[in-house]
Amino acid sequence: MPKPGAERVEWGPPEPWNQTEGRVVIPGPFEYHRPASVADAVALLVDHGDDARVIAGGHSLIPMMKLRMAVPEHLIDLQDVAELRGIAEDGDTLVIGAMTRQQEIVDSEVLARLCPILRETALVIADPQVRACGTLGGNVANGDPGNDMPALMQALDASYRVSGPDGSRDLPARGFYEAAYFTALGETEVVTQIRIPTPPAGHGYAYEKQKRKVGDYATAAAAVVLTMAGSSCTSAAIALTNVGDTPLLAEAAGQALVGTPVDAAVREAEAITRPASDGRGPADYRTRIAGVMTRRAIARALSRAS
Ligand SMILES: Cc1cc2nc3c(=O)[nH]c(=O)nc-3n(C[C@H](O)[C@H](O)[C@H](O)COP(=O)(O)OP(=O)(O)OC[C@H]3O[C@@H](n4cnc5c(N)ncnc54)[C@H](O)[C@@H]3O)c2cc1C
Repeated sequence: MPKPGAERVEWGPPEPWNQTEGRVVIPGPFEYHRPASVADAVALLVDHGDDARVIAGGHSLIPMMKLRMAVPEHLIDLQDVAELRGIAEDGDTLVIGAMTRQQEIVDSEVLARLCPILRETALVIADPQVRACGTLGGNVANGDPGNDMPALMQALDASYRVSGPDGSRDLPARGFYEAAYFTALGETEVVTQIRIPTPPAGHGYAYEKQKRKVGDYATAAAAVVLTMAGSSCTSAAIALTNVGDTPLLAEAAGQALVGTPVDAAVREAEAITRPASDGRGPADYRTRIAGVMTRRAIARALSRAS
């Protein structure tokens, strides 16, 4: 029986249904919860443990549920949690609520002015329909190495504020991703904010993504954020998307860019990739593409820096 306030949803038959040639396409049954606060969402996660999942924009989770790769018995919808929305400046930190949609990042005047690489990256995620629903919190919490925002968050040295039964803590994006779909987020925790140190005025930036077609995940992509003093590069951070089990911070590549030729940074970036051979190409091709994306992103970031 559903608990008071929860709705039992039966989408399709309770047992997996082989529609065509054994492919399961209908999600399993679940109880639907719609809390109005982070505290209530956390309480539901505590009550239901690993039978529960939060849902944000649903554009990664619902496809996984339809394939029964995820079969949550309790779905905790965050869309009524107003405290998870909004974009603000807090001193020298940009604070973005986890339920901020990708399209809101594209439209934000504050982000366009202070951290334009966020807009550049959001614009190459999928298509307008996905961006209208998908959230920044969902994108960074998902743990899919194909998601574009996690590598960018590593390049920007962002952290994720998470809330759980024992309070809040900040987890650096650079240590958050453990393996594909495994992160440092606890089972009973919710990502509430993405916190980004505001890059210095005049910084250079670029996100370069190679994809097979509009709307596709990256074959390989590179985020570059750097600062210059005159003609010398004084700091640089480079991170890569979809060429390993996790987003990859290319630390040595960033260091190599400071005061040395671009070729060294590209070689260092290529050296840390471990891509799968799949529909997006053989592993060695994807490694080369990661190098090409890194080279292009560095060139564009340098041209934008002042
Ligand atoms: C056709 C298509 C193409 C796509 N192409 C791209 C692409 O090119 N690049 C890209 O980056 N993404 C792509 N996506 C994914 C899209 O950006 C998703 O919206 C995003 O990955 C997840 O955000 P969401 O808000 O939809 O999260 P959901 O699908 O609701 O959730 C995803 C996961 O994160 C967890 N979660 C969500 N919010 C929180 C939170 N606040 N705290 C803790 N856990 C949370 C959920 O429990 C779930 O496990 C694509 C999706 C589709 C359908």
